[in-house]
Amino acid sequence: MNLDFAHKKTLVRVDFNVPLDSEYRITDDTRMRAALPTIRHILDQGGAVILMSHLGRPKKREDGTIDTGKFTLRHLVGHLSDLLGRPVQFAADLVGPEATRKAAALQAGEVLLLENTRFHDGETKGDRELAKQLADLADLYVNDAFGSAHRAHASTTTVAEFFDRNSKSFGYLMENEVKNAKRVLEHPERPLTAIIGGAKVSDKILLLERLIGFVDTLIVGGGMAYTFFKANGGRIGNSLVEDDRLELARDLLAKAKDRGVQLLLPQDSIVADSFSNDARRQESPSNQIADGWMGLDIGPQARQAFSEAIRSSKTILWNGPMGVFEMPNFAEGTKTIAEVVAKATQQGAFSLVGGGDSVAAVTQMGLADEVSFVSTGGGAMLEFLEGKELPGVKAMED
Ligand code: AMP
Repeated sequence: MNLDFAHKKTLVRVDFNVPLDSEYRITDDTRMRAALPTIRHILDQGGAVILMSHLGRPKKREDGTIDTGKFTLRHLVGHLSDLLGRPVQFAADLVGPEATRKAAALQAGEVLLLENTRFHDGETKGDRELAKQLADLADLYVNDAFGSAHRAHASTTTVAEFFDRNSKSFGYLMENEVKNAKRVLEHPERPLTAIIGGAKVSDKILLLERLIGFVDTLIVGGGMAYTFFKANGGRIGNSLVEDDRLELARDLLAKAKDRGVQLLLPQDSIVADSFSNDARRQESPSNQIADGWMGLDIGPQARQAFSEAIRSSKTILWNGPMGVFEMPNFAEGTKTIAEVVAKATQQGAFSLVGGGDSVAAVTQMGLADEVSFVSTGGGAMLEFLEGKELPGVKAMED
């Protein structure tokens, strides 16, 4: 953020997509708080801030209108003003005469919030005309919405084309996401271990393929592991499986072997006789699960083997839980991994948790502050780790 914001107007794309209750009260303001350092920095430097964000997924009704009452950013004005300790002006449209007038009148230290970007069809289409109208409101552009960076929308990507390199910048949040992901992807200290879990292999194919190309150790846990066991001829009972991915699983195992990547699967599991926290439980080798039983967590041997690999790593990437951690009886594996990652971090490893439910897991376990970086980027982080070029990142670097 090394732009000179003094006496300038800066258009800032933030992610204020916060959850609201039935009376439109904000139930979790984490995303708003996360954007404060960027906003405050600009204001402290004597700049004016024009904020834009999407909120929810407003869909057109049959008559072509949108439920603007539900999705208006007006719901956020009062709280934002409290957080910033100063008044926040509001423009009832993203662009158009009111936004233009209010933006033009904005003085140093003042804040204007524009209406929901998604009320305009052009937003998700990356429309140039809409982006130009937005760009015309300000002198500088800052993008702090990493969570939307994988979408080529008007407010996240196209608008950046109207600002040259010296008039646009990532905000602090986005800068951090990009910097930390690059630390893992581009110049990791080795050994580098990736821990991948979650429900489906199909959701993580691209990630697994990419990681096999450059990690030293790949740990695969969670429901997706059983597709690998079945692919190797194991018996997995009623565990989660994707029968159309068996070939792919075999292929990934072969690739790992070819490249000398240590691929660790959970040798044993905690199996249950139904998908319920109250189910009967027992330990079982993961490739010999009896009919009627399903693997819902990694077992004690797997916990130990995974922990050893993590402890000897210098860089750790974690995406996806080791079991059905939402059910306390099947959370032990995920909890152990979270604790070991935290411990390794304390001893000098760099750890990034991101791009899936593992973020919820470390937060739920109170360990979010004990790892090096917890990404809030969701799908955007997943795509970044998969090696895709994010349009919102590229537009700032062009
Ligand atoms: P993801 O969003 O891909 O990270 O997947 C997270 C989901 O995978 C969580 O809701 C977990 O409950 C689920 N999950 C993890 N392990 C298992 C398992 N062994 N069987 C079924 N679901 C699982």
